[in-house]
Amino acid sequence: MAKFYENEKSETNKKSDLRIKAIENGTVIDHIPCGQAFNVLKIMGINENFKKTVSFVMNAVGSRGGKDVVKIEGMELTEKQVAAISLIAPNATVNIIRDYNVISKTQIKTPNEIHGIIKCINPNCITNSKEPIQTSFKVESESYDESILRCKYCDSIISDDIVKHLF
Ligand SMILES: [Zn+2]
Repeated sequence: MAKFYENEKSETNKKSDLRIKAIENGTVIDHIPCGQAFNVLKIMGINENFKKTVSFVMNAVGSRGGKDVVKIEGMELTEKQVAAISLIAPNATVNIIRDYNVISKTQIKTPNEIHGIIKCINPNCITNSKEPIQTSFKVESESYDESILRCKYCDSIISDDIVKHLF
């Protein structure tokens, strides 16, 4: 319990603090389709061993309907992570926070091609052989919540549970 309180040193006892607090430095990913927050955390490599503050809201009421929101203290996204998130949350925005201020707000863009992020489902695909070939998928469509990927080498299609196929 002692440790719990150490991490909460900026908290006061006010009831309002039960709501999600602003973060000092880190990333807020907004406009995630409902139910995809866990997958976004997975893409960011956040699991039970992650030591910094992570907060998220599922099924928040936003101006464009329901959404999930993820806030991560002390972490910014890599280009690969943004590309992976775009496959499951094509309308998400990424806000970088420094000193409690939003210093940049970017609308995620789904790339036309994804390289080296997703593993091909076809065990006979050349990218699953011993050849040092990076996987490469064409993004065939982006829907509200998930894209359709086509392997450029073997034409295999990945259309759901994309996160399960991440390296
Ligand atoms: Zn393939």
